[in-house]
Amino acid sequence: MATSDHNVVLHVADVHMRFGGLHALADIDLEVEEGKTHAIIGPNGAGKSTLLNVCVGRLFPTSGAVVFDGQVITGKKPHEINQAGVARVFQTPEIFPELSVLDNVMAPAFAKRDGAFKLNFFSNMHKEGEIREEARHFINDVGMTAKLDTHAGALSRGDKRRLELAMCLIQHPRLLLLDEPTAGMSRHDTNTTIELLRKIKERGMTKIIIEHDMHVVFSLADKISVLAQGRIIAEGAPDEVRADPRVKEAYLGSEQE
Ligand code: ADP
Ligand code: MG
Repeated sequence: MATSDHNVVLHVADVHMRFGGLHALADIDLEVEEGKTHAIIGPNGAGKSTLLNVCVGRLFPTSGAVVFDGQVITGKKPHEINQAGVARVFQTPEIFPELSVLDNVMAPAFAKRDGAFKLNFFSNMHKEGEIREEARHFINDVGMTAKLDTHAGALSRGDKRRLELAMCLIQHPRLLLLDEPTAGMSRHDTNTTIELLRKIKERGMTKIIIEHDMHVVFSLADKISVLAQGRIIAEGAPDEVRADPRVKEAYLGSEQE
C-alpha cells in the first residue's frame, strides 16, 4: 500500500465518512512519513477534526482503513490506539481540573505502565519517583515549572493546552496528533509553542498538526494537505501549496490580508 520509499508511520487509505446525508470525508488518502510534521489545513467545516477522530478511533469511517505502523487500526478502541503509540492534543483540552499540573502529567505515565504490566509495591515506589522526575522534565519543556503545584482547572487556556502537550510527551508517542494547538493563545504563547514543537521535531517525533494560524503552519510543516468540503484538494511542500491557485481560492484567499 505504501507507495514511497520513506517509512510511512500512518496511512489513511481511501477513507470516507458520512454523517447522514453529509459526506464529511471523501476519498481521503494520506501518508505521514516518519519524523515529519504533516499539516492539515482547510476552512471551518472542511473535515479536519473528523479526520483526526477517525485516526484515533473516536469515529469509525463509513469505508476505508487507517494503517498505523503497518497495522490496520480501524475498529480499534481509542485507548488501544493510544497504547499502540498514538497521542493526541484535543481541540478542547482534556485535563483533570482538580489535580495539580504535576499530577496531571504523571497520570498518563501511570496509566500506560499499569496497562502494560503489574509491578509489586516496592518497585511501584521506585517507579513513582522516576515518573515524577520525568513529569518535571516535560513540564519544564513546556515552560510551566513555576506552575507545578497549580490546580489545572485554574490555568489559562494557553497553559491548559501546554499542559496537555506535556501529558502527551510523557507517553513517548510514535505519532502525535495536534488539533489546533495554538487556538486561544496570545502571539507570545503561540511563538513559545512553535519553538517547543520545533524542539520535539528535532527529537524525531512524527506529528500531524491541524492549524488555522498560517504562521504556525508555515513555520513547522514539512508537508501540507489541504482539505475542503471533505476532500484533499492539494498536497505538497509548503511553498508548492502556498502557490497553488486552488488553495488560494478555497482557503488562503479568504484568510489573508
Ligand atoms: P473542521 O474540523 O475542519 O472544522 P469537522 O471535521 O469538525 O470540520 O466537521 C466537518 C463536517 O462534518 C461539518 O459539516 C460538521 O458539521 C460535520 N460533523 C462533524 N462531526 C459530526 C457528527 N458527529 N455528526 C454529524 N455531523 C458532523
Ligand atoms: Mg476542527
